[in-house]
Amino acid sequence: MTTLFISDLHLEAERPDIGDQFIKFLEDDASEAEALYILGDLFEAWVGDDDQNNYYFVIKRALRRLFDSGVPIYFMHGNRDFMVGKQFANETGVIILAEPYAINMYGEKALLCHGDVMCTDDVQYQKIRKMTRDPDWQASMLAKPLKERLRMAEEARRQSLERTINLDMNIMDVNEDEVKKIMSKYGVDVLLHGHTHRPAVHDVDLGNRKAKRVVLGDWHKQGSVVRWDLRGPKLEVLPR
Ligand code: MN
Repeated sequence: MTTLFISDLHLEAERPDIGDQFIKFLEDDASEAEALYILGDLFEAWVGDDDQNNYYFVIKRALRRLFDSGVPIYFMHGNRDFMVGKQFANETGVIILAEPYAINMYGEKALLCHGDVMCTDDVQYQKIRKMTRDPDWQASMLAKPLKERLRMAEEARRQSLERTINLDMNIMDVNEDEVKKIMSKYGVDVLLHGHTHRPAVHDVDLGNRKAKRVVLGDWHKQGSVVRWDLRGPKLEVLPR
């Protein structure tokens, strides 16, 4: 049996090619899997489960179909879709996981996270992250009219782009010390995450033992998946 992991699809109505590939992936690869884990940034933006446009309806229906066929789907929040909530979970059948999430994968201990929490070199980003993950801040956001939230999300995307364009690439990657700290704390063999859009498998030297960090890629130009079975995790490209 195989368990699948994906992240950073950044689905949006303006990019139907990504949505089409995702739906095909759910119907083909994922329908054969033991479970599917989505490690954040499934959506480019998510301002609340009450945003019921037709594009989201099609995506949710595809997730629901997979769930109804008997494949469990787990979802972890990313820095774009941290407002995905209970209503979305009820509509699709996905189970929302707390971050980080420790699992046993065919005998190997693994830790799952979106990845942004380890990007500690980007101090300004960590401040934004702390604010937006605060339940009180989220409640005050959800109290605003949908139209206003959509406008704010658009503005936030613009600002984020402007900010990151001038940032050193290394600042936006994970901090190695932070990686070792979290892997030691949870005592895992494998850390699996996305967010940085730098798909790779890294060796991590934890002093007394060797471990691995597996990074999922984004779906901007092609798909990216980790297939995990008895032989371990395998990072693969999904051609579009
Ligand atoms: Mn992200």
